[in-house]
Amino acid sequence: MAVKCVIEGVQLVPMGMANAFLIEADDGLALIDAGFPGKQATVFGAIRGLGRSLDQLKHLIFTHGHPDHIGSAAAIVRETGARTYMHPLDIPMAESGGPFRPMRAAPGLLRQGCNLLFHPDERVEPVAIDQPLTAGEILPLAGGFEVIHTPGHCAGQVALLWRPGRMLFVGDVYMNLMGLGDPVGFENLNDGRASQRKLASLSFNAAGFGHGAPIARDASTRFRDEWGEKSAA
Ligand SMILES: [Zn+2]
Ligand SMILES: [Zn+2]
Repeated sequence: MAVKCVIEGVQLVPMGMANAFLIEADDGLALIDAGFPGKQATVFGAIRGLGRSLDQLKHLIFTHGHPDHIGSAAAIVRETGARTYMHPLDIPMAESGGPFRPMRAAPGLLRQGCNLLFHPDERVEPVAIDQPLTAGEILPLAGGFEVIHTPGHCAGQVALLWRPGRMLFVGDVYMNLMGLGDPVGFENLNDGRASQRKLASLSFNAAGFGHGAPIARDASTRFRDEWGEKSAA
């Protein structure tokens, strides 16, 4: 799988079975998530593919602290000096590099399916977090990211709404592997359902997932059909 443009200004960077997203703005480049370990060369290739140098990656924002989202982070920060952002509840996992809080497999999914992307005893290279994210804040970079706390899959998970492109980065609130669906597991299923409904109530155009294909347009309509109020009963 190659790097590809999702919407203007957003590149999907494949990081093994997980996605990262590279956002190009006037004030530099921002990366959302850092995939599995050993995938930093894919990010560096994507940066150079835009005609940029590695030190132009200014920000690395994490949707949450799972190993498949922070795996290459330390290596990326070493080469780029990017500033790192994460919700406080997940910072201890990132800064220790594991172990990770356990999840229960999503309803209908066998434990083996959950273990495919995640194992609590996994260890990855720790990454220091420079700035804790606050629910409801607008990060004033790359034109503005709205930070939405979306616990359930992971207590410190956030979704990020990039204002200029009206693209929502959902992390693992949902996956889009074989159609829109649940993540592999939940720390707290009720919280996870509430977060899915919360995102389905927002208005946005494009959506990027930690796992699976992005949606380039009319994404909020599809989210509402799947998780909106009328189907929540
Ligand atoms: Zn996760
Ligand atoms: Zn994930």
